[in-house]
Amino acid sequence: MQQQKGTISIHTENIFPIIKKFLYSDHEIFLRELVSNAVDATQKIKRLSSLGQAAGELGELKVSVSFDKEAKTITISDRGIGMTAEEIQKYINQIAFSGATEFMEKFKEAKDANEIIGRFGLGFYSAFMVADKVEINTLSYQPGAEPARWICDGSTEYEITEGDRTDRGTEVILHINSESEEFLDKHKLEEILNKYGKFLPVPIEFMTKTESVEDGEDEEGKPRYKTVELPNIINNTTPIWTKTPSDLKDEDYLNFYKELYPFSEEPLFWIHLNVDYPFNLTGVLYFPKVKNEMDLQRNKIKLFSRQVFITDEVKDIVPEFLMLLHGVIDSPDIPLNVSRSFLQADSNVKKINSYITRKVADKLAELFKKDRKAYEEKWNDIGLFVKYGMISEEKFFEKGKEFALLTNTKGEFFTFDEYKEKVAPVQTDKEGTAVYLYSVDAAKQDAFIQSANNRGYDVLVMNSPIDNHFIHNLELKLEKTSLKRVDADVMDKLIEKDESRSHVLSEEESKQVKEIFEKAIGKPEMQVHIEALSPDELPVTVTMEEWMRRMKDMAKMGGGMGFYGNLPDSYKVAINGNHKLVNRILQADGEAAKLEIAKQAYDLALLSQGMLTGADLTAFVNRSVNMIG
Ligand code: ADP
Repeated sequence: MQQQKGTISIHTENIFPIIKKFLYSDHEIFLRELVSNAVDATQKIKRLSSLGQAAGELGELKVSVSFDKEAKTITISDRGIGMTAEEIQKYINQIAFSGATEFMEKFKEAKDANEIIGRFGLGFYSAFMVADKVEINTLSYQPGAEPARWICDGSTEYEITEGDRTDRGTEVILHINSESEEFLDKHKLEEILNKYGKFLPVPIEFMTKTESVEDGEDEEGKPRYKTVELPNIINNTTPIWTKTPSDLKDEDYLNFYKELYPFSEEPLFWIHLNVDYPFNLTGVLYFPKVKNEMDLQRNKIKLFSRQVFITDEVKDIVPEFLMLLHGVIDSPDIPLNVSRSFLQADSNVKKINSYITRKVADKLAELFKKDRKAYEEKWNDIGLFVKYGMISEEKFFEKGKEFALLTNTKGEFFTFDEYKEKVAPVQTDKEGTAVYLYSVDAAKQDAFIQSANNRGYDVLVMNSPIDNHFIHNLELKLEKTSLKRVDADVMDKLIEKDESRSHVLSEEESKQVKEIFEKAIGKPEMQVHIEALSPDELPVTVTMEEWMRRMKDMAKMGGGMGFYGNLPDSYKVAINGNHKLVNRILQADGEAAKLEIAKQAYDLALLSQGMLTGADLTAFVNRSVNMIG
């Protein structure tokens, strides 16, 4: 073969300095690109051979990566289909774009290295991010092919000569530039290979590893060991998502989970995704046992394309609420070199998004139907996730209605329909609205819960971080239903019925009692109301109105500022005019005695809600001691 020299056909002087300069942030992906090319070439020869289109033995099909610190080279070699000199011309030299101007235009729009590589088919050229000079030694599988050697020093000049390779395949040698010497390091390369290549479909060999193996027996008949150097294969070529679900046991899924997230607790359950049409997607998604915020951040879904790791930033492929899940998604329909903006617009990505949402909802519905008891036991762990999904995705709300559960203070579970049926007969107010009562802290709000239960009302537990939003969402979606915190008012007012109770106090007495309490409490933000409640209700109840508390909660979550956040806490102090204690106050001898009883009753109300602290609590204790003493 004659030596050929030429100019790489880009109609600009030199794009490599630009590539180098702009792609500084993710230089490491050169290895992903070159190893993927080697894997592709290997897969191609396998396919040709199985079709009877490649003669001869395939040999051991693996890809090797090695480096030489002295020579400053990294070498990626494969036993794939190889290339002829013509193919090098066609595939390597002619970079797929039509002109310098257009290139520069597009280049300016590109947001990151991935996008540039993806748009221009520059995978191979990413080598120039880390190398001054790149060499290819290759021999095509085609009968009678001649070996070829290509060298390019990162300018647009290249050289093709006859090569000396005698076996089929390709070797790419990178002469690492001075700024990229960090890659001439065993740990660094191993880390990158592990990151991108842990599940590639062809064995990837990286240097060797030492292992001790049995070597006969010693005089006493005990096994003898010796250390040997073995090829270090870094990947698992058949990860479970590539297998058929019916061939897998629970144990396989659990082991794979461990492999992905070594330090995490066992997942609750999983979904094996497998779809061919209208897009191709496989994967396994796990429902984790989420213990705290940290867990949420730490483990992420990993995205692969034909077993090449792409990213664990799956934000645009997976609906946001499903980001709480763990596992892997593999789709060749998600372009390998992708950028955010591209993904958002991609129609496959949209379809994938709703497919995953549907699968997840179906799985939950199935678990619920199959074994409700087991499902209820898991509710603590999946509730957060289901609620989040229902709030954020309309479609998921529709499905979730069937399997979302409400829990009450007695630890019972209800679907939305079941709950409505249970409470509507007793908890519908005079306007015809069903009022669901809830507690955020059953221990603290016990007095209110008991008072509700005494009337045959049920109280839900809403104590997860997302419940504030969930409550709001329920009110929007459920017809004629409102939710009120159990301590938002006295029971008679929380669910207002038609009947009104009559006062035993005269107007004059009411006024007097109000004044006594106002004086005893001595705080204008505590608004005293005299109410005609059932005689067996508590004499004094301290409440914060539902809307006011919600506004304050929202302001708190939004950083504590804002109009509502700055309002002073304002409470309603309801005095039960029908309670016998009120009568005792009126009868008491002298103002001091009246004030003391009022103060004591008020403190008891605060105490029952955990609102009595500090000096007020001490004063209360001292006063009580005096009273019994
Ligand atoms: P892409 O892989 O996206 O097509 P690349 O620039 O990475 O773009 O590679 C261009 C082409 O060069 C490949 O499509 C393939 O035909 C050829 N090629 C690259 N590496 C190899 C290899 N190791 N063995 C055989 N052919 C290769």
